[in-house]
Amino acid sequence: MATFPRQAHKEKLMEAIEQICSNLMLLSEMGCKGFDCSNQSLHIVSGWGKKVYNQVESLEKIRKDIGECDRCRLSKNRRNIVFGSGNPHASLMFVGEGPGYEEDIQGEPFVGAAGQLLTRIIKAIKLSREQVYICNVVKCRPPDNRTPTADEIMACLPFLQRQIRAIQPRFLCTLGTIATKSLLQIDEPISVLRGKFYDLGQIKVIPTYHPAYLLRNPERKRDVWEDMKKLMNAMGIDTGKNP
Ligand code: SF4
Repeated sequence: MATFPRQAHKEKLMEAIEQICSNLMLLSEMGCKGFDCSNQSLHIVSGWGKKVYNQVESLEKIRKDIGECDRCRLSKNRRNIVFGSGNPHASLMFVGEGPGYEEDIQGEPFVGAAGQLLTRIIKAIKLSREQVYICNVVKCRPPDNRTPTADEIMACLPFLQRQIRAIQPRFLCTLGTIATKSLLQIDEPISVLRGKFYDLGQIKVIPTYHPAYLLRNPERKRDVWEDMKKLMNAMGIDTGKNP
């Protein structure tokens, strides 16, 4: 835990340097030979980043747009829309399939038995639920916890995509087949996809098993720990001992 904030700052600094280098190369290709460092010019340049920052929509705006959504049939039996929770500036997002019984009642993601296991997984990688962001592909509970259908996923996916753009995590861990297929558009079993990194724009995505699957198949916990060690290594978190 102690190394993470420093690592996060270092990563942000490296990102900023990379961005500056790429902008300088672009300006150079456009024929720029140097810079005017007058107060007026510096004032203009200092506004560039703010302009880009302001273009990122907030999670509040996305939640407001969802409203009392009835864009798919999952609206009929839900008690609460489960939007997501955690750090809106998280470096790491976890994305599951959809809310279950407890989540539907409480309006919070991953608060049932599978959620408690996810909390333990997050602690094992030396982070807390408050440091990451957690949400699902569909925001309403499918009846009897059935798998969401393709049209339900298509109806809700734009909200998840907007959440990802708003948070801009560096890493994203998909939990289970539905989250992985929905975001990566790869039609392979989770057993094949897990434990490898995939690019989603600038974001590194690592799929792993869903905690609910682990509750039914505890022998797969070892695989998830192997996946989490890869994630920790990529994030610069000391893996230490097996929990
Ligand atoms: S699952 Fe998503 S699209 Fe369907 S009703 Fe709920 S919020 Fe709307």
